Amino acid sequence: MSKKVQLPVVGASSLKKDGGRNFVHPADVSGRFVKARYVVFAALIGIWAALPWVPIQGNPALFLDVEHRRFFLFGLTFNAQDGWLLFFAFSGVGLLIILVTALVGRVWCGWACPQTVFMEGMFRRIERLVEGPRNVRLRLNKGPWNVNKIWRKSLKHLLFVIAALFVSHVFVSFFVSMPSMLDMMQRSPAQHPVAFGWAVGVALVLYGNFAWFREQMCMIVCPYGRLQSVLTDDNSLVVGYDAVRGEPRGKPKDPEAGDCVDCHRCVVVCPTGIDIRNGMQLDCIGCTACIDACDAIMDKLDRPRGLVRYDSLKGLEHKPRRILRPRLALYGVLLAGWSAGAFFAFQGHTAFEANLVRLRGAPYHLVEDGATARNLFTLHLINKDSETAVFHIDPVAGDGVTFQIGEEVVALESLQGRDVPVYVDVDVASFQVGDRVVLHVRREGDAPEDALTAEAALLGPRR
Ligand code: SF4
Ligand code: SF4
Repeated sequence: MSKKVQLPVVGASSLKKDGGRNFVHPADVSGRFVKARYVVFAALIGIWAALPWVPIQGNPALFLDVEHRRFFLFGLTFNAQDGWLLFFAFSGVGLLIILVTALVGRVWCGWACPQTVFMEGMFRRIERLVEGPRNVRLRLNKGPWNVNKIWRKSLKHLLFVIAALFVSHVFVSFFVSMPSMLDMMQRSPAQHPVAFGWAVGVALVLYGNFAWFREQMCMIVCPYGRLQSVLTDDNSLVVGYDAVRGEPRGKPKDPEAGDCVDCHRCVVVCPTGIDIRNGMQLDCIGCTACIDACDAIMDKLDRPRGLVRYDSLKGLEHKPRRILRPRLALYGVLLAGWSAGAFFAFQGHTAFEANLVRLRGAPYHLVEDGATARNLFTLHLINKDSETAVFHIDPVAGDGVTFQIGEEVVALESLQGRDVPVYVDVDVASFQVGDRVVLHVRREGDAPEDALTAEAALLGPRR
């Protein structure tokens, strides 16, 4: 039977009463979720660091060459003209986040957000290695600046700087490519001041964030965290405390007390410094540390695990949880619509572009004593593939139409473009309004049906 429990009203956990910073030093915790998270963090950091190294079709898996307006993404090549595809990329990610959040709450924050992954998987590990567990760290911070404190703090911050430089160099290599980055690292910064400035600037921001700002990024800056209250509902999966089972708190031997023995383990392991027993809070990033901490206490007391657990707010009140609900159906329909749009958009993304454009200010001019109307065009050809390609331009014959094409076979490097002049002579006697000029442009090695058609209206005197 469910019972109503009144929980206390709380303020921001990272603020002292005088408005100062309450620096959080979470305690170590071990358990199934923590172990799984470290595996996920290691995999994500490994994949992220490998992206600029692993070649796919001759280019890095991720290379955003802003300087030359070309972008390589997992074997696909895009140029500046493909910018409109970003609409599908951003809207798709947004819709997916909304749907996933409604279903499983802040799983992204706790398991895959770069802030969490680098903080817990890299910088917190360094701190733990150099300064020891929480109680030792707290003593060290409160203690005088003796030799022990100076060398530990110095080493920790030196390692933080090295880690920040590592992350910033991989990050900048997404924009300059890893071979260029390695080459630049062996030369004077004066020869590449922009890339050097970015690498140092990003490293400084990362160092400031992971050494000092930390959980405040999630609690104050991140807009996703602020949107939780509208993205989730009582049926979304959250990390929560079962107040029905846990309250009233008391000693293990107290027959009147609930299962919570008020040991505060769930509080001291929390990286944002909150007490999960105060109910759902925006500051909770769903890291699961309090689940593992409380499960260990329950194991010791020989009580069932799950006093703190993944559950919906309804589940925590011992009411049935509805997984399928109207908002999920709506998000699902929106995502299906987006998927269809994205499918057709990416289907239309071709390995090259061929557009026939009339020369500006030149509708047509009469030659051969007025018997022929000459139309002047330019064929804009762009190779959007990651490799050099040869293109064949084949005019489609029409009655009374003859062609002069600047180059009928064009070789272009990756993302190189060429304007090919195309003159079309139309026999005035057979010209009719609505006649069109048609060119087939085929990449060497492609099947004839994969050729692109470039066409434009012909102009001539009305008879
Ligand atoms: S760890 Fe569990 S038993 Fe201890 S205070 Fe937290 S909820 Fe209560
Ligand atoms: S309350 Fe629990 S899940 Fe939320 S941030 Fe703190 S330790 Fe992580």
